[in-house]
Amino acid sequence: MRIAALGIFHETNTFQSVKTDYDSFANFEFLRGSEIADRHANSKFTLGGYFQAAQKFEFDLVPLLFAFTGPTGTVTKDAFDRISEEMIDLLKKNGPWDGVLLAQHGGGVTEEYPDMDGEVSRRVREIVGADTPVVMTLDLHCNITQNQVENTDAIVAFRTNPHLDAVERAIEASDILIKTIQGEVRPVQHLVQVPMMINIVKQPTSFGPMKEIMDDVEKVLDKTGVLSVTCGQGFPYADVDQMGVSFLVVTDGDAAFAEEQANWLARRAWDRRADLQNDSPSVEESISRAMNASADGKPTVIMDVGDNVGGGGTADSTHLLAEANRQGLSGEKSLLLSLFDPSNVQSCISAGVGSAITLKVGAGTDNLHGEPIEVTGYVRAITDGKFEEPKPTHGGLRFFDYGPSVALDTEDGHTILLHTVRGIGNMSREQYYSIGILPENYRVVICKGTVSPRAAYEPIAREIIVADSPGVTSANMSSFSYKKRRIPLYPFEPETTFD
Ligand SMILES: [Zn+2]
Repeated sequence: MRIAALGIFHETNTFQSVKTDYDSFANFEFLRGSEIADRHANSKFTLGGYFQAAQKFEFDLVPLLFAFTGPTGTVTKDAFDRISEEMIDLLKKNGPWDGVLLAQHGGGVTEEYPDMDGEVSRRVREIVGADTPVVMTLDLHCNITQNQVENTDAIVAFRTNPHLDAVERAIEASDILIKTIQGEVRPVQHLVQVPMMINIVKQPTSFGPMKEIMDDVEKVLDKTGVLSVTCGQGFPYADVDQMGVSFLVVTDGDAAFAEEQANWLARRAWDRRADLQNDSPSVEESISRAMNASADGKPTVIMDVGDNVGGGGTADSTHLLAEANRQGLSGEKSLLLSLFDPSNVQSCISAGVGSAITLKVGAGTDNLHGEPIEVTGYVRAITDGKFEEPKPTHGGLRFFDYGPSVALDTEDGHTILLHTVRGIGNMSREQYYSIGILPENYRVVICKGTVSPRAAYEPIAREIIVADSPGVTSANMSSFSYKKRRIPLYPFEPETTFD
């Protein structure tokens, strides 16, 4: 059995001013053919799961093309045209296929296509035809559409947030694909879009109402004849019609059962809608809570929700740093954070390790993420910003590259890691270890993320405070001016009904 594997993986924050062009992919992760195996054969990402499944179910996996870049602004028409044409051309030239595994995110938006993932699946279907099974894997932050459903035989999305189950879901998707090819199952799927969104701060799946929703998903998964169940949490920073929560149930040939189960899940989530909205503390309250925390030798970790790099944040917000300065957070190892700041990295490299330096750091991208802040300190260390994280991280990333990076110790007792590649976030503590910083020794650690840093920082944190900070990924949804989302949608229209 010959199975093609391909994908254009992007989570698009349409509120970000910087568009995602061809080079954003080319300079991040743009793999063809055997490069995909070199990078992913042992990765914890979806493609790693495809490779494991190929061994387990004994099929020939033929990786064609995979393009991925960190969550950034709308994908340009030029980027999408060039990447999709190359990918679809490879699919056409290397066929015929017994099946296709499509590694998409489900939150992609291009200048031309508000539903990039639907368009990719449509083009794949056009090439392979209705009789060749196509199974698509998605991120949990997917905004699922009818177009995606119509152009695939089955969709399987991650079920944990942080995303630690990419490999398992890829194996599940491959299992459905192989059984479909062999005629053992006949997947049918039903999608229900719920007129609500889940606030980013309520999206972790291990506690609270989101855990209850995922428990419901597990109940449906246990039922006979159910092949897969997805809760699309939705990606709220994409201003598109399909933005919001959805449920997708895949059954073996029973459309009515799939519909009934998807409706049940949708109704249960709808009943929890009020508990799934933003209730996070302000920047001021978050810093004061962290400063008043008992000194038990463990850091208080503050999530900078407004600069959630995993959601399209600019990685250079200074709102929390400014507030920490205002409230007088100082003293040895009082604060640790990272900032995307290429020009200051160059200044520090020119000055050299051990040099005293005064800089204005951060807030270099736009006016949503604070003001540059003057700091005086010493350049402690310089690295190339590359490292490997052997443990599972959010999304299964293994090789990291923050570009040339500098550790700066300030006279206030803060340590600021300045880096030159945007778009990764604080998903791995190796980011700090690799430059000689021990995050567990700090009183307060600011992480640029909402959920994705949890897997790395929960083990060392005395407490995690999720701060309602301003920015392009703010939890305060009223700070965004949507033009294309569907109406009504809870909580924007509080009187929304769901029949
Ligand atoms: Zn995600």
